[in-house]
Amino acid sequence: MGKEIEMINVSKSYGDTAVLNDINLQINAGERIVLLGPSGSGKSTLLRMIAGLEEITKGDLMLDHQKANAISSGDRDIAMVFQNYALYPHMTVEDNITFALKANKVSKTEIKTRLDEALDMLGLTLFRKRLPKDLSGGQRQRTALARAIVKRTDYFLLDEPLSNLDVRLRLDARKELFNIHQKYHQTFVYVTHDQIEAMTLANRIVLLHEGHIQMFDTPDNVYQKPANVFTATFIGSPGMNTAEVGYNQGKVTFDDQKIDLPKEWSEYLDLSGAKQLIIGIRPEHLSILKDSNEFSLSGKVVYKELLGQSHAITIEIASQEWVVLTESDVYHLGETVQLAINPSKIHFFNVDTTQNIGYPASRQ
Ligand code: ADP
Repeated sequence: MGKEIEMINVSKSYGDTAVLNDINLQINAGERIVLLGPSGSGKSTLLRMIAGLEEITKGDLMLDHQKANAISSGDRDIAMVFQNYALYPHMTVEDNITFALKANKVSKTEIKTRLDEALDMLGLTLFRKRLPKDLSGGQRQRTALARAIVKRTDYFLLDEPLSNLDVRLRLDARKELFNIHQKYHQTFVYVTHDQIEAMTLANRIVLLHEGHIQMFDTPDNVYQKPANVFTATFIGSPGMNTAEVGYNQGKVTFDDQKIDLPKEWSEYLDLSGAKQLIIGIRPEHLSILKDSNEFSLSGKVVYKELLGQSHAITIEIASQEWVVLTESDVYHLGETVQLAINPSKIHFFNVDTTQNIGYPASRQ
């Protein structure tokens, strides 16, 4: 069973350059946490601080309620898996997996039990005598995972472990990771820039941008109730459409066009007193109509993409581009269409702070 991790006002800088700012995190024992964010947002640095591979400039790291800032990496109960598996090239699969256990003087029978279980779980039994150079990328990656799980540590730290695999193998590997967690209940901290991986693996996601936590919540809440414009546009494929709009007495204005808001929204916005807002609507919550209605806007089709199951149609309205996901594509470039907004799926953000302004009672 995994143990708790807590970060209290943790910051990291290299010289004058701040890389992480005032990070506060409380990770429960046995939780699967994904650190998600664009490249350079500070994910790896955060993970490496938990691992003890990176010094903490300010603040406290608590592992199992003990201050751990000064505990060396070797003395933290962690196993780590990296993107470049880092296997010993001259050792067989089984020697790679058991090397650390032998060094730690784990008994021979215990090593054999753990090895056989890991080989079986990860489908490596037939390859146990092979050298890394005679393995496929997927098998190498599974060997690295096996080497980490036999350690039976409290914390399992993974830094983009699946990035070098193709899409099919990644799907298999995600299932394996899930199974590993179901079996050992370690506290997982997993770094990725891939939101699908984050959505599928995480109990909770830490979304990072420029060294700040944007949101720390369940995948469902991150998608349904994004804390700010960055979260709204980063999550989703394509991300949420956002546009600055005017608001007055139940009407939202997009340049010379208006839509009427349902009563629950107009009551909520009237209370806030806001006159300018950022509206957000996901591409999957928009549709295209031939005829207008009170929730639709007139616009021009400017770009189209086939995304496999669906079509992403880009429509220009008041010099803003909106992406709509549709099942069928019957529209021509340059055609004028009506963009229908599903009013129960709208989001609003503060223009100055870009923070979500919340939802009427019916959406709570
Ligand atoms: P991510 O994992 O999200 O891609 P990183 O944690 O690797 O981001 O890096 C965060 C930021 O810290 C980046 O801007 C990176 O250039 C900077 N950085 C990382 N390591 C060092 C270092 N040793 N010296 C200076 N800057 C660094």
